[in-house]
Amino acid sequence: MSIRANLLAIQARLEGTSAKLIAVTKTHPPDVLLEAYQAGCKTFGENKVQEMVSKYEVLPKDIEWHLIGHLQTNKVKYIAPFVSLIHSVDSLKLLQEIDKQAAKNQRIIDCLLQIYIAQEETKFGLSADELMDLLRSPELPTLQHIRIVGLMGMASFTDNVEQIRAEFKTLKTLFEQVKLLPLPANCYLHELSMGMSSDYPIAVQEGSTLVRVGSAIFGYRT
Ligand SMILES: *Cc1c(COP(=O)(O)O)cnc(C)c1O
Repeated sequence: MSIRANLLAIQARLEGTSAKLIAVTKTHPPDVLLEAYQAGCKTFGENKVQEMVSKYEVLPKDIEWHLIGHLQTNKVKYIAPFVSLIHSVDSLKLLQEIDKQAAKNQRIIDCLLQIYIAQEETKFGLSADELMDLLRSPELPTLQHIRIVGLMGMASFTDNVEQIRAEFKTLKTLFEQVKLLPLPANCYLHELSMGMSSDYPIAVQEGSTLVRVGSAIFGYRT
């Protein structure tokens, strides 16, 4: 199957749902991204800062770049001029740095808070308690160059569909709970980033608004 055919098939499955597609382009060279772009896909997700910057530099400027991988504070400055959404914010310290770099670029950067939902040791993210602490932090309302627009999570790497579904349900429930809290003006929670190639149909059933799909579009990464 071609990239175009894969994109069309996924878009067809998402039609009529609440979910938007983010094409995860990590490890693929710019000409592969250009092929997706020419097929109408203009939102790309990358997990490494350097890789995202070098692709940004050579590709059309109307592409929306989403950072989906773990972000170190010392690298925020490289993506601050152009990133449209950071999915992987997991500390106040990182938010403060994003705010500072966004201010330097006279921008407001949209962020998602990454929540730990998997039963695995390796995944980054906040627990529900840590999320509450962050949202109640007196520092948060002072950050005028970031906006928290939702939550992100990754299900366990398993083929147990019921476990995956339960993890997505947990995240959706948490999302609905925090939306009811009195939140500062820089929080407008409406995006729920969940679902990858293997589990996005389940994520969409459970209320995802952003699916991050790589291998189902571009084939397996080497
Ligand atoms: C790589 C990656 C994806 C996409 O994975 P696929 O299985 O190729 O669809 C989604 N989210 C994150 C955070 C990733 O790192």
